[in-house]
Amino acid sequence: MGEAVGTNEVFGYAAKDKAGHLAPFKFTRRAAGPEDVTFKVLHCGVCHSDLHQIRNEWKNSKYPMVPGHEIIGTVTEVGSAVSKFKVGDTVGVGCMVHSCHQCDSCEKGSEQYCEKVVWSYNANYPDGTPTYGGYSTQMIADEKFVLRIPDNLPKDAAAPLLCAGITVWSPMQYFGMNVKGARFGLVGLGGLGHMAVQFAKAFGMHVTIFSTSPAKEKEARELLGADDFVVSKDEEAMKAKAKSIDFIIDTVAAKHSLDPYIAALTTNGKMCLVGMPPDSLEIMPAMLTSGRKLVAGSAIGGIKETQEMLDYCGEHNITCMIENLPLSECNTAMERLEKNDVKYRFVLDIEH
Ligand SMILES: [Zn+2]
Ligand SMILES: [Zn+2]
Repeated sequence: MGEAVGTNEVFGYAAKDKAGHLAPFKFTRRAAGPEDVTFKVLHCGVCHSDLHQIRNEWKNSKYPMVPGHEIIGTVTEVGSAVSKFKVGDTVGVGCMVHSCHQCDSCEKGSEQYCEKVVWSYNANYPDGTPTYGGYSTQMIADEKFVLRIPDNLPKDAAAPLLCAGITVWSPMQYFGMNVKGARFGLVGLGGLGHMAVQFAKAFGMHVTIFSTSPAKEKEARELLGADDFVVSKDEEAMKAKAKSIDFIIDTVAAKHSLDPYIAALTTNGKMCLVGMPPDSLEIMPAMLTSGRKLVAGSAIGGIKETQEMLDYCGEHNITCMIENLPLSECNTAMERLEKNDVKYRFVLDIEH
């Protein structure tokens, strides 16, 4: 594969239409300004939303689209006003590259909820320039959206922290699902779920995994350290969990019933949805009122808390369990991801 030539010529893989096939694509990024960090991309995680977006399943796709928002690389150039990074640093960019910095969400450090947020791909900067993601050799971003990657973390296995990791970390912090000795439940053991289990164990919680796949039990217990595993299709096993779980993170992106999980919550229990099923989900209000239970939702996380998560992962040696593929096999990654044939995240090796 060709290296980027010159400062602004980039090689990547792009989808040209909703068939979603990724093909080699040469493009230029916007010129780097004084506040920008330019970096050579080394690894990029493959998120389920990449698959949705290349196929226009969210009905807002812009083509050509270079996906990828779990991007890690080495700084090659910094603008004159950049203060946090220098050439040679290992850095990352997640789902966002721009926001207004003036609205209520931005002031609260929740840039992901800014109405003017610009996503790392399939979006446009305020001047209309399109954004392209990390399935490419080079990235340019405002330093406010660039994250420092702790040196002790492997660069490939750290990449999915930038979306999968922060998506579960943010609600676990915001809703106080980080209490030593508390009982934590995880619904849906995939890319997001396996990060939630690792965080919950690091916080000292007792972890129960709810999954439709009995085949996942052995690994969940032995590799991820889960304390308990419940096959969610087993109604008796679910009933046995009634009022026994303090906090639940639900990562399921397909339509499913929430009632068995709300029933599993203790009084004052909290449940947060991070998956985005395309259909409405029903809740019986009495199931909430009869125990002051909370059902909430959350999307990725702000920049400050993403850095806090990365630093915590560095201190506790937490990374994702990944399978590496060369960038040229990104279509294979998509095909296998569609069949859930991945443990637990594909990461593309951009240089090979
Ligand atoms: Zn993602
Ligand atoms: Zn804003």
